[in-house]
Amino acid sequence: MTVDELLDYDREHVWHPYTSMVNPLPVYPVKRAEGVYIELEDGRRLIDGMSSWWSAVHGYNHPVLNAAVERQLASMSHVMFGGLTHAPAVELAERLLTLAPEGMDNVFFSDSGSVAVEVAMKMAIQYWYAREREEKRYFLTIKRGYHGDTWNAMSVCDPVTGMHSIFRGTLPMHHFAPAPTSRFGDPCPQEDIEEMQTCIRNNHTRIAAVILEPIVQGAGGMWFYSAEYLRKIYELCYMYDILLICDEVATGFGRTGKMWACDHAGITPGIMCVGKALTGGYMGFAATMATESVARTICSRAPGLFMHGPTFMGNPLACAVANASLDLLQGYNTVEKRVMEIERQLMGGLAPVRQLAQVADVRVLGAIGVVEMKHPVDVAAVQADFVEEGVWIRPFGNLIYVMPPYIITPVQLRQLTSAIMRVVFKYE
Ligand code: PLP
Repeated sequence: MTVDELLDYDREHVWHPYTSMVNPLPVYPVKRAEGVYIELEDGRRLIDGMSSWWSAVHGYNHPVLNAAVERQLASMSHVMFGGLTHAPAVELAERLLTLAPEGMDNVFFSDSGSVAVEVAMKMAIQYWYAREREEKRYFLTIKRGYHGDTWNAMSVCDPVTGMHSIFRGTLPMHHFAPAPTSRFGDPCPQEDIEEMQTCIRNNHTRIAAVILEPIVQGAGGMWFYSAEYLRKIYELCYMYDILLICDEVATGFGRTGKMWACDHAGITPGIMCVGKALTGGYMGFAATMATESVARTICSRAPGLFMHGPTFMGNPLACAVANASLDLLQGYNTVEKRVMEIERQLMGGLAPVRQLAQVADVRVLGAIGVVEMKHPVDVAAVQADFVEEGVWIRPFGNLIYVMPPYIITPVQLRQLTSAIMRVVFKYE
């Protein structure tokens, strides 16, 4: 197949994320990727600003990760996890639980972030079932959230920008509180938590869990909110006997400048989801962790077990590469310091666009840089401009944002921020 034939077939038959089959946005054919570069079929090399949606934190084609996959492949790529176990999964469980906030005690492996969220929600429901409080079967979340595209995950995504209108009548209905307005680094005034507090006070007997993205609301608007807000929610959950599910699928593994975003608030949720960077972006894999009390309670009432078991649960290849990815993370001296260096440079590099009339806001947290435009951008045109600039940045809505691999050098990061500056200048 020539590259043109490949593109023709792709356009006619292959669905891409959130795109039309009738009028698809352009796609760029990739030949290979290495380090921080994505190389297109025509030979152009683009500096990656997206880490393939938060996942490829060590860059591409990493020799340590490749070696881990190859080593594992030579012994077994997969065996069922029902009735069998293996070293890569047990080692990964132990390492994750050691790294996780104090109190996490059990881990459930699955295939993707969305499934990790489904698992977390099922755990919450089964927890209250086991406690014979079956009326607690609703979730409370905050607007502008994103938790994935499967059914229950979708039901707690933002009801306006999410998919609620299309799927109305088929999605379970849950409670939504306003998104926090207090920014990261600021205190959280009472007004910001008021509606959440009222909702909890009025509905706690029917709420199984609060589910949220800690600190960073990602796909729902790239908003960084006050750690005090998160802390207050944690306290409300404790006070009213509600579980807290922290969805760290995007924020985990150092992205915000701490290993977990919930570390900014110093909290341990009852249930926590991780994914994306878990395998260094090598393959789809995720985990849902729970405290001992949650796990033991779930198993205390007949049928005495947790009702979930994916075919590829604990996949050895994924576990092996995840273990190697954790080695790399621990090899940065430290991941927090590495990410803070990126943060400092992003702050300096993006500061000049803040003054522009077309820019509503510029914000940086850890290795995440966001330029919020006043108006939605033309994704295809802006994307093409970035490719011309030699960088890979994919905007959405009115957001131009980057979350580069942690291995990016200061020179490469300057190329990214300079490209953003030039492209944003152009769209006055
Ligand atoms: N949760 C959050 C916070 C996410 O950002 C995402 C994906 O962007 C998901 C869950 C879903 O993960 P996946 O796309 O691996 O299903």
